Amino acid sequence: MACTAYRKPPLWEDIAEVLPTAGAGRKQMCQGNHVSWRRLGAQEIWQHMTEYEYLVENSPAALFLVDLTGTILEANNAGARLLGRSRAELVGLAGRQWLKTSDPRARALAGGINDAGSSDIEVALHHADGFDFSARLDARVFEHPDHGRVASVVCRLNATLPVASGDDTGDIAKIALSHIDEAAVLVGADGRIRALNTAYTRITGYNEAEAVGQSLELDGGSHESDLLTQVIDGLAPGKRWTGEVHNRRRDGQRYPAFVKITALAPGEETASAQFVVVFRDLSADKAYEARIEYLAHYDTLTGLANRTMIEKRAEMSRMAVERDGRHLALLFLDLDGFKAVNDSLGHATGDKLLCHVADRLRSAVGERDLVARQGGDEFVILLDSIAEPEDAAYVANRILNTLKVPLTLNDQTVFTTASIGISCYPDDSQDLTTLLRNADMAMYRAKRLGHGRYVFYRPEMDANAHWMLQLRNNLHRALELDELHVYYQPFVDVNSGEVTGIEALLRWQNDELGMVSPADFIPIAEQTGLILDIGHWVLRQACQELQRLHERGYDHLRVAVNLSARQFRQTDLVDQIAAVLEETGLDSRHLELEITETVLMEQAGATLDTLHALQALGVAVALDDFGTGYSSLSYLRRFPITYLKVDKSFVDGIPAEKGDLTITRTIVAMARSLGIRVTAEGVETLAQRRWLKHWHCEEAQGYLYSMPLAADDLEWLLANHELLPVGDETGRLRHDSFPVLEE
Ligand code: C2E
Ligand code: MG
Ligand code: MG
Repeated sequence: MACTAYRKPPLWEDIAEVLPTAGAGRKQMCQGNHVSWRRLGAQEIWQHMTEYEYLVENSPAALFLVDLTGTILEANNAGARLLGRSRAELVGLAGRQWLKTSDPRARALAGGINDAGSSDIEVALHHADGFDFSARLDARVFEHPDHGRVASVVCRLNATLPVASGDDTGDIAKIALSHIDEAAVLVGADGRIRALNTAYTRITGYNEAEAVGQSLELDGGSHESDLLTQVIDGLAPGKRWTGEVHNRRRDGQRYPAFVKITALAPGEETASAQFVVVFRDLSADKAYEARIEYLAHYDTLTGLANRTMIEKRAEMSRMAVERDGRHLALLFLDLDGFKAVNDSLGHATGDKLLCHVADRLRSAVGERDLVARQGGDEFVILLDSIAEPEDAAYVANRILNTLKVPLTLNDQTVFTTASIGISCYPDDSQDLTTLLRNADMAMYRAKRLGHGRYVFYRPEMDANAHWMLQLRNNLHRALELDELHVYYQPFVDVNSGEVTGIEALLRWQNDELGMVSPADFIPIAEQTGLILDIGHWVLRQACQELQRLHERGYDHLRVAVNLSARQFRQTDLVDQIAAVLEETGLDSRHLELEITETVLMEQAGATLDTLHALQALGVAVALDDFGTGYSSLSYLRRFPITYLKVDKSFVDGIPAEKGDLTITRTIVAMARSLGIRVTAEGVETLAQRRWLKHWHCEEAQGYLYSMPLAADDLEWLLANHELLPVGDETGRLRHDSFPVLEE
């Protein structure tokens, strides 16, 4: 029906003509024009009809002209307001979309109007905002020249009866329902939707017009797609079924929902609706649960598993390896010197670094292995099923090599290393917590032995904690008991084989503890502050010894003394050094101070001042263990450094490890281009020496040439410098064992 053709005044007359309330006025104004106006032009109609139009347009009563199916042909302003739509929207609106009633007289209007005639009927009208409200309606059927039988309808809000009692829903209840988060649906015995609230539309995407009359589909899984039918068939009146289902939205997206289906009790039910289905979209809850689950098992920064997850996985893997007689390995990994990155470059950079490391760890292990972040800069790697514990060593090596590849951090190329402790199931412990503790202990051992290495757990390490306590208790008296000694390890010119200098390395010989490695006691001395006295003492010893050697003719030698971070931070460091030089008579040109890059990073400003003061004093500075911690080539440019010592962990890889070769070559080339002299640490083989010589690394230090020696043994070595003796475990020279150097 071309309803839009009747947008203008003519139909007003039709309405007014038969309106029970307005009809009289119209007669008066339009007498004689009843037929003729149809032939007038629009302008003339407006002129002719103006007064009449005003009357209808401004009528406080809502007026509608409807056809016999209830479809609106025209409405006045009050009608539009009443239903919450514009007049244009109202034209063509079907009866079921605006008029709801169980009154048989008014049903005639919605379902096909007959000659029920005019009467005051109570109805529910549907507002555009989604709620129904109670109204009173009066209708007259009349013959329209173009449309045949139509009805003029006047509606008034029902002020006395806010809830349409006896109907499916009342307006107050409906408004309330429209504000709840759960979808509420009235369903008939046939499973078809009778009424719904706004949450239903929000959740499913189906509006009322689309959904009412359709079957409510609840999908309990692939086998229960007609779940609703099953449930309502077996649900006695007054009973309720609850359960979780998966539904599909209008756009095809599936979502989980929690559903309550209630069979209305006798008396509650209506002619059309016997069930109330209420359901809640669980998508957000599920996402929240998944997030909680994620947080419980994963590390948010790196996306790696966390400790809880690794424990769960280890527990699962344990059963599998028990069954097929294999092993599990736990690798406990701690980054070397990470604290310095955080302290000096800030937490954001620290976080970036952790993410890089996480990526590298993931790439270095197999698909079945699990990498977890334990917290801070500690990572745990679970090797799922290995044939032999030794297999863990391959993975550890691969990890160390992966980490060694320089990475770019804040536009700087930095080198990073880690220390790894390894413990295996079932060999080292049956219990996971103990395994983890064992791996942790082994990691500490690896740290003490020098950075960038792995160590397998050994039962002796259990005694370690007790032993460390003993060290702590005994160290403070070591100096006064004369238990500390300085050993010296030569630096050798790679080309000539000449000794060019010596490094002072501290030794502690205790009656109870035996010979204690500086790697074990220096950290304690550093923590307790004892390092300040001890370090000063080493400096004096070393300067004295070198001065003595100079006096004995070895005046080309220099001495390198290791300075700890705490020593370097002393504000009077330069004065102390000047005083020692003065006291021992050693020329400042022959003293070299070894610091690590961690020290440089700690407080770049103050560090630079100290370095310049040392430079002014004529003392050389060496960067020790270069390539570990967070060594950065750009630091070489920024700081006045004379020597750079390539860490043993790189030298170890010469000549087999391609990565180590590249890094060492790069470091040597870069340092040389900046006029910095390079010393290779821990040279043990002729092949290493040959390679270093080829790549212009001028100086080497290591067991190939000599272990650290007591002062008198050193002098013996110097006197017999053609011979390259090998020391015993304590560094004491064994005069009877000289390796024969053959290329
Ligand atoms: P460092 O300064 O890097 O010293 C080199 C370490 O490597 C020494 O261990 C040396 O004995 C060892 N080494 C040298 N050549 C080889 C080799 O060919 N193979 C192997 N496997 N090792 C080799 P040491 O004497 O146990 O000292 C360990 C660390 O303790 C030193 O590392 C240094 O950081 C620290 N340290 C030693 N003495 C002092 C000191 O007087 N003051 C401070 N602050 N630290 C010291
Ligand atoms: Mg050193
Ligand atoms: Mg070193």
